[in-house]
Amino acid sequence: MRAWMSCRCGQVRGQVGPVEARLANRVTCYCDDCQAFAHYLGHADLLDARGGSDIIQIPPATLAFTQGLDKIGAVRLSAKGLYRWRACCCNTPIGNTVTPTIPFVGLLASTFRCEGQDPDALFGRPRGAIMGQFAIGGPPPGSKGIRPWLMASTIAKVLSWRLAGRAWPHPFFDRTTGSPAYPVTILSTEERAGLRAIVDR
Ligand SMILES: [Zn+2]
Ligand SMILES: [Zn+2]
Repeated sequence: MRAWMSCRCGQVRGQVGPVEARLANRVTCYCDDCQAFAHYLGHADLLDARGGSDIIQIPPATLAFTQGLDKIGAVRLSAKGLYRWRACCCNTPIGNTVTPTIPFVGLLASTFRCEGQDPDALFGRPRGAIMGQFAIGGPPPGSKGIRPWLMASTIAKVLSWRLAGRAWPHPFFDRTTGSPAYPVTILSTEERAGLRAIVDR
């Protein structure tokens, strides 16, 4: 099965496939950086009522952008932070990554809804929640920190993707140089602190 994802305005569009349970890891993240990024983009409405981000991790090779490549860019909240890729046309997130050594792309479930698709039908419900200590109104049940079983199964999945050769081609990195294929903005310490102040309110 294949699926489509896109940014909110539809200029950046990509195809995901194959879509299979073993090729996806869906988790709700309440961390302060995910919340800070939504505020940075001016899209706090992407977060749920408790400040959570509904993230679906997939192997890099299963995502290929088909249009709007000139609109792609990344933001890092610090020099060593995640690459938080966004569509610059409408300032919406289109995938979180680290370096290609750890081969996953974390897509917001809403990128599939933009194409009229049901993330539950494609990937199943979230397997759990992490970093609930940053949730608005206190941690939802079982969401504090990163639970060992969820961590272990996530590592096992990502490792299996790497062994299965699903790290390349990567939608955001150049295979020859291993460098980002699109412009990257790194926030200053002050900018990040300003965003965290909004989240910590
Ligand atoms: Zn997060
Ligand atoms: Zn857009």
